[in-house]
Amino acid sequence: MAEHESLEFGKADFVLLDNVSLEEFMANLKLRFEKGRIYTYIGEVVVSVNPYRAMNIYGRDTIEQYKGRELYEQPPHLFAIADAAYKAMKRRNKDTCIVISGESGAGKTEASKYIMQYIAAITNPSQRAEVERVKNMLLKSNCVLEAFGNAKTNRNDNSSRFGKYMDINFDFKGDPIGGHINNYLLEKDPVGKVKGVFKCIFQLVKGAPDAQLRSLHIQRDPTAYTYIKVGGQIKSSINDSADFKAVTDAMKVIGFTTEEIQTVYKILATILHLGNLKFGSDGDVTLIENSKLVSILGDLLSTKDENVEKALLYRTVATGRDVIDKQHTHQEASYGRDALAKAIYERLFCWIVGRINDIIEVKNYDVRVHGKNTVIGVLDIYGFEIFQNNSFEQFCINYCNEKLQQLFIQLVLKQEQEEYQREGIPWKHIDYFNNQIIVDLVEQQHKGIFAVLDEACMNVGKVTDEMLLQALNGKLAKHAHYTSRKLSPTDKNLEFDRDFRIRHYAGDVAYSVVGFIDKNKDTLFQDFKRLLYNSSNPVLKAMWPEGKLSITEVTKRPLTAATLFKNSMISLVENLASKEPYYVRCIKPNEVKSPLLFEHERCKHQVEYLGLLENVRVRRAGFANRQIYPRFLQRYKMISEFTWPNHDLPSDKEAVKRLLQGCGFEHDVAYGKTKVFIRTPRTIFSLEEQRAEM
Ligand code: ATP
Ligand code: MG
Repeated sequence: MAEHESLEFGKADFVLLDNVSLEEFMANLKLRFEKGRIYTYIGEVVVSVNPYRAMNIYGRDTIEQYKGRELYEQPPHLFAIADAAYKAMKRRNKDTCIVISGESGAGKTEASKYIMQYIAAITNPSQRAEVERVKNMLLKSNCVLEAFGNAKTNRNDNSSRFGKYMDINFDFKGDPIGGHINNYLLEKDPVGKVKGVFKCIFQLVKGAPDAQLRSLHIQRDPTAYTYIKVGGQIKSSINDSADFKAVTDAMKVIGFTTEEIQTVYKILATILHLGNLKFGSDGDVTLIENSKLVSILGDLLSTKDENVEKALLYRTVATGRDVIDKQHTHQEASYGRDALAKAIYERLFCWIVGRINDIIEVKNYDVRVHGKNTVIGVLDIYGFEIFQNNSFEQFCINYCNEKLQQLFIQLVLKQEQEEYQREGIPWKHIDYFNNQIIVDLVEQQHKGIFAVLDEACMNVGKVTDEMLLQALNGKLAKHAHYTSRKLSPTDKNLEFDRDFRIRHYAGDVAYSVVGFIDKNKDTLFQDFKRLLYNSSNPVLKAMWPEGKLSITEVTKRPLTAATLFKNSMISLVENLASKEPYYVRCIKPNEVKSPLLFEHERCKHQVEYLGLLENVRVRRAGFANRQIYPRFLQRYKMISEFTWPNHDLPSDKEAVKRLLQGCGFEHDVAYGKTKVFIRTPRTIFSLEEQRAEM
């Protein structure tokens, strides 16, 4: 208990700081990191600093230590949050969610795994076979998603390139009976550009059995593949073949058929071969230089070679009533090839998620058998990104964080307000920055940045990124959170003409408009969709239903990337808003994966953009803790002569008053109708200490 607020380990809750200043916050964070105390609370929020070393704090004994306990009874830990979410779900029948955020490499995915591990450990005490089966499925699906969604990048050896939200459903006993996964914005670049290669691709090349590689026409040598070479990171791990087997087995256990698993690997091989395709020209004619690859692709995609070749070199266009084949230029063909590689990877990933969901989702049958089910959701999503060069992906990611911040404001403040009203406690207004204005700037209909972008993409004819920037400048010139080089020519922080800048709640970010138009449009030529739909491999065919339409039937434009992302964010936020939220805020202490280094400026920056100081202020303005009177007495009655072993006061409320007066905490509490409200955690920690000394 002495650890709650000790000189040696710093303050276990930032709310206990003597002054809420950035300096004190940072000093406490650093001290705790150096003392191996990687978790610290802000009320019920866990702030976590990546230790970059194995910590002996996740074992069975630690799990036991947190099981069923209240948050403040033990040193800060992810397990305490997981337990709080679980208790709320089980005892109060509430759907809860745990939102984990932070930048790349900050420890989000590890945190989500420890949380899952904790929940798995404390459930199903009676070892029901069916529940164990579900737990195993959930675990295995994580393994598959990591292989297909994570890549080694220069920021993180195991970087998730997608946002993941996973619901776990529980029956009335509190045991897992199923789940559901949503994924958000898979960064497709790792197959075609510079950001690292998805793990599954490495596992295949380095780890698949010889015979399987032969059937896919793949060589064991990763340097033979352009996409892998461009992605860099050609470093083999000793575990490649074990990993390959583990992922294949996981797919089997989940229930993928042999044909499905084979198709998955055929698609990966297709991507590798596509990367090696070279185009050349003979006069006006565009050619494929290494035509041997065409027949390999035909084989892998179960389609005729000439169809593959045609889709790579031509596109069908409808001009009036005529349908003609228009030959790609050399450049268009290369562009089409890369777009195809990215699109089939993205489609594969979404298909895998869909297949897993088919299997793990709670069926009506289960609901009938198990009664009403409640849910814990875990969100592992990218935090704010501010790079040297920020593009469309960062724009989407940062918009996502604005949405989550807005949710945080609404939920935390709204919930507080409502509870105070219910309990008859006067509500004190808290001053905070409401970021709704920035959310609107991005997503508002007709006027927002996404709307302007979509409008630009809708135009027939060539619309350039520069034209988009002009349109944005025209629409948003007066917006307090938008500016650009054109609008603020003297602004030194706007280096390039192509930049526009958003004043996010977490700080200013300059975005380069280059590539926005392209990334927002569905750039895949229709011909490829038809090619894949016409495959005689039914699994592949099922992935590309829109290929069914012939050129003259394609009338509706597919939704843009921005619209799809916006819609998915709106539904994510709606979903989270219907649940009781718990937060984990992850911080990355340094760039070099060192367990010793606490880079002050880096950390300070993260503390700022995660809005942690504001979080402390809001928390301090409210009440850190509240408990219904009987429960409070049950826990602390032994520390007062008036309440031990029983009290003779007219009500529990009176008894609690008497107890707290006796301890000298009167100034720090308020008495509601059914609950006592305690302003600072210090009081709670002190009560805990007195209790422990009894
Ligand atoms: P991204 O956004 O790139 O997916 P992330 O926030 O999910 O990043 P993780 O993959 O969870 O980051 O963590 C990066 C690495 O940091 C891990 O592979 C692990 O080596 C180390 N790490 C993170 N958390 C812990 C922890 N609690 N204990 C030990 N090591 C950790
Ligand atoms: Mg991750």
